[in-house]
Amino acid sequence: MHIQSKLPNVGTTIFSVMSALATEHKAVNLGQGFPDYPMSEELTAKVYEAMKQGQNQYAPMPGLMSLRESIAEKVQHLYKTTINPDTEITITPGGTYAIYSAFTTILRPGDEVIVFEPAYDSYIPNIEINGGKAIPLPLTYPDYKIDWELVRSSITAKTKAILINSPHNPTGSVLDKNDIEELKQIVTDSNIFIISDEVYEHLIYDDLPHESILKYPELFERSFVCFSFGKTYHCTGWKLGYCIAPAAMMKEYRKVHQFNAFCCFTPAQAALADYMKNKEVYLSLPRFMQQKRDYFIELMKNTKFDLLTTHGSYFICASYGRISDESDKDLAIRLTKEAGVATIPVSAFYHNQKDDKVLRFCFSKQNRTLQQAVEKLMKI
Ligand code: PMP
Ligand code: GLN
Repeated sequence: MHIQSKLPNVGTTIFSVMSALATEHKAVNLGQGFPDYPMSEELTAKVYEAMKQGQNQYAPMPGLMSLRESIAEKVQHLYKTTINPDTEITITPGGTYAIYSAFTTILRPGDEVIVFEPAYDSYIPNIEINGGKAIPLPLTYPDYKIDWELVRSSITAKTKAILINSPHNPTGSVLDKNDIEELKQIVTDSNIFIISDEVYEHLIYDDLPHESILKYPELFERSFVCFSFGKTYHCTGWKLGYCIAPAAMMKEYRKVHQFNAFCCFTPAQAALADYMKNKEVYLSLPRFMQQKRDYFIELMKNTKFDLLTTHGSYFICASYGRISDESDKDLAIRLTKEAGVATIPVSAFYHNQKDDKVLRFCFSKQNRTLQQAVEKLMKI
């Protein structure tokens, strides 16, 4: 049987490719973003408890009410915004699904969505498979900021949405108040939706505030704001997240969700509903992860990589002009095979494979993993 591909230009994601290569060559994996240290035992015990107590059947379609209430409480505390847990929050199987569903909810054939590159690799295929057209705009290099003049000149009658991601994967750049002001000016009095990928909301460093869209009612009124428990609780394999949107928009979103996943894994929802009431866990996360970033930066001074600045996420990028003039893909493959360290070539996050000769390193790892990796990189 022949399938006329809906995604003819898409191969296997770079994360699967580099993780497989890392396994094959027994390389230290600083490629795909996931922690290699254990998650909270208290939280896993709560999941077990929920299962033993019989919470093993379908959750309500939008998610357990207790979890949605805990999320609304957290949003109130952090962003001083009142969210209705009944009508404005839906629990999803991960952040990627939350974003995908937002596109399915709003896009019609030919609609344009502005995305910024380097872009997390699911965004453009998510737009295209939902009939939309991605309008990729480059972030400035090497500080990876949004060029708002370019955004203004790229808006057309077909612009349906702008997708933002802060803290940013793969670069760790973060949006500031000025960016929010620019965004406000651009979307005010327009019909443009915002999809805000905030999965790294707590992985933000140097005492910078996270400029959540939830803090700005003028922006929230047109936004789908997407989160992931995987990043906050060191359990990326749980694939559990949520979307927050105004009630009328969420009503349409749930029409999509109810005939796709319908609902998510109940025991983890029950466990998180209780566990996330402990604010200290997420409030201590920036400090915890910043230590890892700073430790990695210190170690990398012994190599010939030139690190770029990161203020958030799991990631730090590095240029390698002092090592090689190979393409970033070639170097990433060679480093995995020959040096035993897997990374991600940043060109994989551009629709046209733009190659600034930059690799992405994931530092959400045990110190000894980071140490092992850098010992190998020092030989390059
Ligand atoms: N957005 C970005 C920018 C990410 O890095 C990730 C993590 N892979 C996601 C969304 C998706 O999170 P999840 O694993 O919960 O789908
Ligand atoms: N978010 C992770 C990364 O950027 C991995 C996600 C995935 O493997 N799909 O590396």
